[in-house]
Amino acid sequence: MAIKYIPEPFRIKSVEPLRMLSRDERCRKIKEANYNLFHLRGEDCYIDLLTDSGTNAMSLEQWAGVMRGDEAYAGASSYYKLIDAGKDIFDFGYIQPVHQGRAAEKVVFPLLLGKGKFAISNMFFDTTRAHVELTGARCIDCVVAAAKDPAKRVPFKGNMDVAKLEALIAEHGAENIGLIVMTITNNSAGGQPVSMENMREVAKIARKHKILLDIDAARYAENAFFVQRDEPGYADKSIKDIVREMFSYGDLFTMSAKKDAIVNMGGLIGVKDASSPLVFKIKANCISFEGFYTYGGLSGRDLEALAIGLYEGIDNDYLRYRIGQMEYLASRLDDAGIRYQSPVGGHGVFVDAQAMLPQIPYNEFPGQVLAIELYKEAGIRSCDIGSYMLGNDPDTGKQLHADFEFTRLAIPRRVYTQAHIDIMADALIAIKKRAGDIKRGYRITWEPPILRHFQAFLEPIA
Ligand SMILES: *Cc1c(COP(=O)(O)O)cnc(C)c1O
Repeated sequence: MAIKYIPEPFRIKSVEPLRMLSRDERCRKIKEANYNLFHLRGEDCYIDLLTDSGTNAMSLEQWAGVMRGDEAYAGASSYYKLIDAGKDIFDFGYIQPVHQGRAAEKVVFPLLLGKGKFAISNMFFDTTRAHVELTGARCIDCVVAAAKDPAKRVPFKGNMDVAKLEALIAEHGAENIGLIVMTITNNSAGGQPVSMENMREVAKIARKHKILLDIDAARYAENAFFVQRDEPGYADKSIKDIVREMFSYGDLFTMSAKKDAIVNMGGLIGVKDASSPLVFKIKANCISFEGFYTYGGLSGRDLEALAIGLYEGIDNDYLRYRIGQMEYLASRLDDAGIRYQSPVGGHGVFVDAQAMLPQIPYNEFPGQVLAIELYKEAGIRSCDIGSYMLGNDPDTGKQLHADFEFTRLAIPRRVYTQAHIDIMADALIAIKKRAGDIKRGYRITWEPPILRHFQAFLEPIA
């Protein structure tokens, strides 16, 4: 029996029409898109779950903030409002706006990484991995083993494997580790949270070896909600207090604000110690790549909406509803025997495509196969989080074999209703019934060298 859906803690004031194409049209559109869902037009998707990034619905306070945005080139009041919010919530000395998460990575990583260096993470997000590799450094994922077993229901599957982290530092030498990156929540492992205890242990190791600890903080609020719900000792703490404690363990953070800060565009860099020499270097890179340091590639109105969104994102009622949507969808999949990264994480349901399509090998991309089927079935756009996304080894050019093959249904914030979520569940159930008829996957006919999944062309294997 599906669990109860938690009602929306808001009502709807502005609506955006949706259109469902016929099945024939959808089959034609996906072929024209070279079987890459990123090449589809948004208007051809009935329910768009490609990402929860920048696809969120802003509140009336945020839209009012858009009108109040101060467009001064330097020192806009919206900038100061954002800095005050950032310092209040994260308790960091220096806050730098940038236009999105990967801009933060582009500004910061070349200052700390380069050829011969390594960065170690509980798991790198795709653009984060790319920006490490663009500096010439190499990435090492170090997530706990439980993350690799989607059926295993244990809390905090996003955690760093601390024993392995120590071993990796010993193996490569602390002086060669440019950065430890803690991704909260762990996006690539299925939006799985990191516990406070794990963060504390990782910070201790980083400090012992004098390695900087960067929080990849896109989903800081959802992570805090899981800590409050599942970690002993945190049930009575506010989300804000949990966020502040979590950030107290980091030296810096890089953040895509397009997720938990509920804006359509924006990002942040934080440096704990405002007197760090890193601050001047960040400002200099920011001015070259993004814009003057008081706007960082954003309009004043974006800064204003972000300052408001940072607070809306840590509201307990909102978070309960938000995570409740995931739990509702997951419970419907449980009823149907459909496997996913469980327990369900923060920003979407990561369906175990390998379990649904055991006949499709990793190099024919089961996660991508299921994503294409979902589009054909119900006009739902999702994406592969598996070997297709992971890409090729940067040194050998060989296709990497991912630890899991997921199809991610990322749920935009405050956008879809219970009826939409039922359509997602019904579509997956319909595909599961005919999954045995899908004999082969896809091959890539063209790909760029880095972040290939955004642009590649594919074709069905006959
Ligand atoms: C989205 C995301 C990024 C990159 O942010 P963009 O705003 O998309 O550039 C980096 N890390 C994580 C964990 C993310 O989810």
